[in-house]
Amino acid sequence: MTATVTGPAVPLFDLALRDADTAAVAEVLRSGWLTIGPRVEAFEGAFAEHLGVRHAVTVSSCTAALHLAYLAAGVGPGDEVIVPSITFVATANAVLYCGGTPVFADIRGRHDPGIDPEHVAALIGPRTKAVCAVHFAGYPAGVDELRALCDRHGLALIEDVAHAPFATLHGRALGSFGLAGAFSFFSNKILSCGEGGLLATDDDAVAVLAQRLRSQGMTSGSWSRHRRDNDSYDAVGLGFNHRLDDCRAALLHSRLDGLADDIAARRDLVRRYRRLLAGVDGIGLPFTDADVDTSSCYVMPITVDDPERQGPLRRHLRDRHGVQTSLFYPPIHRFTAYEERFGVQSRPRSEDWARAELTIPLYGHLTHDQQDRVVEGIATGLAS
Ligand SMILES: *Cc1c(COP(=O)(O)O)cnc(C)c1O
Repeated sequence: MTATVTGPAVPLFDLALRDADTAAVAEVLRSGWLTIGPRVEAFEGAFAEHLGVRHAVTVSSCTAALHLAYLAAGVGPGDEVIVPSITFVATANAVLYCGGTPVFADIRGRHDPGIDPEHVAALIGPRTKAVCAVHFAGYPAGVDELRALCDRHGLALIEDVAHAPFATLHGRALGSFGLAGAFSFFSNKILSCGEGGLLATDDDAVAVLAQRLRSQGMTSGSWSRHRRDNDSYDAVGLGFNHRLDDCRAALLHSRLDGLADDIAARRDLVRRYRRLLAGVDGIGLPFTDADVDTSSCYVMPITVDDPERQGPLRRHLRDRHGVQTSLFYPPIHRFTAYEERFGVQSRPRSEDWARAELTIPLYGHLTHDQQDRVVEGIATGLAS
């Protein structure tokens, strides 16, 4: 099935569902059970097995998974969580939902926009409760160093794995290094169902807490009551409605089958981009060729040596070549809502990254012709 939404000749991202995927959803619609139920249970089991973790708890979004992960880490009013500034705003917003304060660490630099463990170490203080590592574009953050640092200071390590399902480090799945990993199934992510998320953990108590808090803090849900006829329940904490439903779980489970192939195709395309772009003057490629082998290759960031050319190059690609680009990301500490609350702060490497970066199209079924068009657009845009 091909997408019917029209847009640029080479969009940043494009979704392609197979007939099996839509059939899996139709089957749930016909079954008469739409909310959390057997498909959620089955998908959670399959995802946990793939990751090699004890528990996978689906929720309504990655934002919800981050919220529950921070709560599980004990984050409350007055506590600080160290997060990168170059990430989606949800990584920091979820700290605020707990009453905590996000403290922004800088990135390593243009070669690696991951959180800088040395700056994290310098920011740890008496009120620090947790550190969140974002695996940017599907490439591992420095979780070895961060884990050691967190252990030394008695802090929880949380992983924002929104970009990185089935990416690995030393053969181990990203999302399994900390107390909890938060995945996203938003439309444009590697494994998507529209809106959805998941909390992965090896910690039994964290899993039980997440299962309760996603459903109003109740000791049992309607599916377990439906099956086991325990017709009452208690509310043992202030929970939320952070549930995923069976329709979306069925779509995710069906798409999980094709995920390894999709990621393999993305890796081939990223290798090809890196070969073709190596010959273009004036740009930089973050990460290394070897990093691609174990990355989920969620997006393809490049940097322009001269930040003055970022805007003109993006307009040239859009207007002359029909190529859509994006920015990953405007730094969170510079957003109005954050400056109003925490004042004007400076994180020089994050700000430099945001001035120099552009994200170019990448998805598993991007063709070589489309890719050539992107590279040609970049080369001509910088030559002029
Ligand atoms: C997409 C994203 C999120 C939020 O995911 P939702 O499922 O939309 O809540 C969080 N962090 C990062 C790094 C993301 O890219």
